[in-house]
Amino acid sequence: MTNTKKRVVIIWGWFGWIRTFYNLAWNKKFEITLIDARSTHSVKPVMPEVAYEDKVIEKTRFELRPVIEKKGHTFINEAVTKVDAKNNTLTIASWDEISYDYLVVATGAFKDFEAIKGLEEHGYSVCDETHAVKLAKKVKNFKWGKIVIGSAKSTWGTRVDAPKWWAPCEGPIGESMFMIDHLLRKKGLRDKSDIQVFTPGEPFFEDIDHTVRNAVWGLMGMKNIGLHLNKVPVEVTASSVKFEDGTELESDLTIMIPVYKGPQFLIDSKLGDEKGFIPTDKGMRHLDYPNIFAAGDVNANTMPKLGHLAAMQGDIVAAQIRKDAGEDVKVPEYKPEILCIMNMGWKEAWVLLTDIQLGGKYDVVWHGKWQGWFKRIFDEKLIIDNGKLFPEWMIHMFKKVLIMMWAGNKGNMPKETANSAK
Ligand SMILES: Cc1cc2nc3c(=O)[nH]c(=O)nc-3n(C[C@H](O)[C@H](O)[C@H](O)COP(=O)(O)OP(=O)(O)OC[C@H]3O[C@@H](n4cnc5c(N)ncnc54)[C@H](O)[C@@H]3O)c2cc1C
Repeated sequence: MTNTKKRVVIIWGWFGWIRTFYNLAWNKKFEITLIDARSTHSVKPVMPEVAYEDKVIEKTRFELRPVIEKKGHTFINEAVTKVDAKNNTLTIASWDEISYDYLVVATGAFKDFEAIKGLEEHGYSVCDETHAVKLAKKVKNFKWGKIVIGSAKSTWGTRVDAPKWWAPCEGPIGESMFMIDHLLRKKGLRDKSDIQVFTPGEPFFEDIDHTVRNAVWGLMGMKNIGLHLNKVPVEVTASSVKFEDGTELESDLTIMIPVYKGPQFLIDSKLGDEKGFIPTDKGMRHLDYPNIFAAGDVNANTMPKLGHLAAMQGDIVAAQIRKDAGEDVKVPEYKPEILCIMNMGWKEAWVLLTDIQLGGKYDVVWHGKWQGWFKRIFDEKLIIDNGKLFPEWMIHMFKKVLIMMWAGNKGNMPKETANSAK
């Protein structure tokens, strides 16, 4: 008997992959192969806890193979080295060739630490597990001094009409500055230390609007955290960060989001735009290859680079593939928004829901201890439940509550900053 199942190959991602996989895995029409260069996956939003709160890295991971095989599908633990889009095949590191009917690219972005001179040698980051562990060691031995935190400038291709913000996502910068501030206060060393934050753009947090922005800026002022706009870093030394405009900030501890670009194998395979990100339509379909889809940070439409958008795109990709395979399904509309929980240290957090800069109308911030607990529950569920997010109806309800609260009293901001929000 011939196999009539459609072969879906997913080049791994986390938020991007997980939603596509769980949406298709039960469907007998598809046989799915997942390929990842790694055998475990670490939940990224927990990396600041690894760096600043002694969370053990092993407790942020889950094994990939059992998740896939339990659902009757195939896992290949290798890197993809090339895609031959014209012939619907790809090559993996062991030189095996794999063919597909549909390809889902969810590799995330490549974090180019080498693009900033001295960053790998003298700087630190929370962007992946290797760097979060390295930063945790530094933080443990750090007594007091000058701390500089910010983002490198990333540039984007021109094939899709998405915002071109210089910083891919400044959430981890917000988390780092508040968590370090908290840590130093706890140790009674905040007065001996100086925290300066820089951004390549203007304003800081380009992707959010004035309610949320004023809340964050207001709290930075209260906590005596300095802010420098339009600062494009070009070099990190053992004692400073140097900027494109010739200025520099003294630094004993530099924490930075590196340059984001598309993975090299996508550039070599001529699937990416000028910066290596996959150009797609709003159905997440490649502009040149109709059976290739992209979800997550690797998609050129994903701005800012956020897991919440990757999950939305994963749902769209799964629906689109089912529709292409002849099923009668409605493909969800892509309505980008920012929904994230920003850790502030010691069980406090901000919940942000905002879409004004993305063409919507909400700008909600909700801050406090409950929100900190919510973040912990959310992250732990992701790790224990093998990356599975809360169901969409629950996220929808949560968003409704946030919006109602916002309409009522402009959210729960720290008192000092609520007055400054227009
Ligand atoms: C500190 C921090 C906090 C964050 N907090 C939030 C938050 O609160 N809310 C939110 O929405 N987002 C948050 N984000 C952003 C979020 O983590 C990312 O947007 C999300 O992880 C992107 O998912 P992805 O599926 O695109 O790819 P990734 O999570 O980057 O996964 C990519 C995977 O692809 C694999 N891969 C890459 N290349 C290949 C290849 N050639 N062959 C095989 N496999 C390959 C990698 O091994 C990796 O496992 C945060 C990010 C950081 C760093």
